[in-house]
Amino acid sequence: MRLRNKPWAQDKLNEYPQYVPAEPTEYKGKWQSRFEKEQPIHIEVGSGKGQFIINMAKAHPEINYIAVEIQTSVIVSILEKQIEEALPNVQILHGDGSDLSEYFAPAEISLLYLNFSDPWPKTRHAKRRLTSPIFLKQYETILPENGEVHFKTDNQGLFEHSLESMSEYGMYFKQVWLDLHKSDFEGNVMTEYEEKFSSRGNRIYRLEAVFPSK
Ligand code: SAH
Repeated sequence: MRLRNKPWAQDKLNEYPQYVPAEPTEYKGKWQSRFEKEQPIHIEVGSGKGQFIINMAKAHPEINYIAVEIQTSVIVSILEKQIEEALPNVQILHGDGSDLSEYFAPAEISLLYLNFSDPWPKTRHAKRRLTSPIFLKQYETILPENGEVHFKTDNQGLFEHSLESMSEYGMYFKQVWLDLHKSDFEGNVMTEYEEKFSSRGNRIYRLEAVFPSK
C-alpha cells in the first residue's frame, strides 16, 4: 500500500499513546492490561487502513484486537478510525510482522489474520511474503498450540505460494475457499483491498491453517 508521505503522521501517533503504544515491546506478555476486558486477543498483520480490524472489533466485542502495521502513514488512518470509534477492544501496534516474538509472549495471541498481504511475486523476494517460513515461525511462537492463521487474498500466485509454504512448514488446512464471495461463508468482514479488488471482478481466496502440535 503506497500513500503520500505524511510527515505529521508520527506526531499524530505520539498524541494517542492510549491507542498506539510508543514502545510496544514493553507490553510483551502484558497486552491484556491495555484493554478494558480480559478476553482472547486476535491480531491482523498488515492492517492497512484498518477497516477490517475496526469492523471485526465492532462485530465481536468479546474479542480484543490488535492491528499490526509497519507503515506510519497507513497506521494514521487506523488511528483516525479508532479516535472516532473509541472501541475498548482495539489497540494499534506500529511494528514489523517479522518481529512479533519481540512484541508478544508465547501463546499471548489466540488467532492471527493476514489480509491481502503484499504478493512479492518474484522468487528472489519470497522471504518477504508474510506467509514465508520466517514469518510462520514468528506466528507459531506467539500463538497457542495448534494456533490458527486465517488468510484472504485475491492474488492467486500468493495464495498458491502460501498453501505450499504452510504445508511444507507442517501446517494443515481446516478449510480452503477458492471463491469466498460465492461460498456460504458467513460473517465475512471486508477489507479495503477486498472491496476494491472484488468490485473489479477478482475472486477472493481464503484459508484457515493450523500449526502442528509442538
Ligand atoms: N489488510 C489490508 C491492507 C493490505 S496491503 C487490506 O486488506 O485492505 C498490505 C499491508 O501490509 C500494507 O499496509 C503494508 O504496509 C503492510 N505490511 C507489509 N509488510 C509488513 C510487515 N512486515 N509487518 C507489518 N505490516 C506489513
